[in-house]
Formats: sequence, structure tokens, C-alpha cells
Amino acid sequence: MFLSIIIPVYNEEENLVELYQRLDKTIKTNDYTAEVIFVDDGSDDKSYAILKNLYQKDKRIKIIKLKKNFGQIPAILAGIKLARGDAVITLDADLQNPPEEIPKFMEKINQGFSAVFGYRIKRKDYFLRKICSFVFWQLISLKTRKKIKDPGCGFNAIKKDLIDKIIKKYGENLKNIKHMIAKETNSVTQVAVSHFKRERGKSKYSFLRLVSYALSFLKEIFLKNFTKNNLLYEIEEILG
Ligand code: UDP
Ligand code: MG
Repeated sequence: MFLSIIIPVYNEEENLVELYQRLDKTIKTNDYTAEVIFVDDGSDDKSYAILKNLYQKDKRIKIIKLKKNFGQIPAILAGIKLARGDAVITLDADLQNPPEEIPKFMEKINQGFSAVFGYRIKRKDYFLRKICSFVFWQLISLKTRKKIKDPGCGFNAIKKDLIDKIIKKYGENLKNIKHMIAKETNSVTQVAVSHFKRERGKSKYSFLRLVSYALSFLKEIFLKNFTKNNLLYEIEEILG
């Protein structure tokens, strides 16, 4: 199975080299055939230069540079579009979720599941954020019948044909892609993942940004407000 590992990157200069080294080791140890797609979501630090450097040394790497900061989900969607794998793994760049746990997901994919969603045990974020997140997802679950544990977890694996089908059906503007997937198929399972405090760089979600994200998400769920051909991101350059 060919694997596409998609990593959204917004000002993560301090994390990228360690992330790459740990990913590389995980891929080698487990004998995966994989591409790693970094999506630079308009970083204004040295992230892109560091990624280009890694790209020159390792042909499994692809980079998509977006024209400006569009947000984590559009960045992941840009990565999905380029992905050639049979399955995609999404992983944050900040090492809060350890890349060494990719095999947990692949085990389930190899057992035949079409989607595997991570849920964070002992989530290491600040208290107010966890409370807001809990209330928000409770609200969302009023509408979505399928229960998903920790829908905000960014560590997931999805078969490429399933994700292509969902995007074809609902368009690319999918904040709640996990709920869409759970609605579309029963072939979904979840795995517990570890979660660490962010050691370097800071969270890209200010409180205001979280509120605005929550509101647009609620609109999408409650008003079924899917905009099919919305411009979600613009690509400046693709390497690889
Ligand atoms: N991210 C991104 N664009 C954004 C915000 C975040 O590409 O506008 C990336 C970020 O670099 C990281 C991941 O998405 O790889 C998760 O972001 P962050 O760690 O800030 O979120 P948190 O862990 O606080 O939920
Ligand atoms: Mg994080």
C-alpha cells in the first residue's frame, strides 16, 4: 500500500527537522512506501526554506506552498488533491502527536477499515480550550447522529478512494469531513493516540480564531451550508 502523509505547516520552523527525522525513521522501521506532502500554509518564518532543504535531500518529499495563510483544513485539502497514495495520513507538524504512532492507524487500514480517526488521551492543551472544545462538539453532536470521539484530533488515516468520493459529493469546503465520512460508511474505527504539550512554537489558534472557526462550522452543520466551488486555497508553488 502506498501511503501519503500530509502535514499542514504554518510557522513551524523549530519543529520541522525533528519531525522529518522521526517520520523518516518510522517509515523505514515499518517498511512503508510513502510520500510526505508538506503544505506550507503561508508561513512567514523559515519553514519553507527548511522544507526546500529537506526536499532536495529526499525525493519522497513534496511541498505545496500556498499563497497566504488559508487555515489548517484548506491546507490539508490541498495536500489531499496532490496525494497519490492508497491511503492518506494527516499529522500536525508540531509533534503534539508522535509520528511513531502511524503504525496504529495502518494496522486498522490493513485490517480493511476505510477510515481511522485518532482520539487524544490526556489531551495536553490549556483548560479553557478543552472546555470550549467539549461544549462545541456537544453542540455539533446534536445534529450529527454518528458519535465520533475527539473530532478535533488532527491525526487520522483515510483511504484515498473514500475521501475522493466525499469531496466529489460535497465539494471541498468540508470542515466536518469526519462526520461526512461517518455518514457515508460504517467502515470507520478509532484509535487512542498520545498527546504532548507543544514544546516549540505556539498554537495557531487564538481564542478569536477558534470562535470564528466554531461559528462557521456550526453554520455548515446546522444550515447545511456547503459551498461547492468556493475558493479555499491558492497554490503558489508545488515541488515534487
Ligand atoms: N496550521 C496550518 N494553518 C493554520 C493553522 C495551523 O497549517 O492556519 C497547522 C499547524 O502548523 C500545525 C497544525 O495545523 O501543524 C495544527 O495547528 P496547531 O498546533 O496550532 O493547533 P492546536 O494543536 O493548537 O489545535
Ligand atoms: Mg498543536
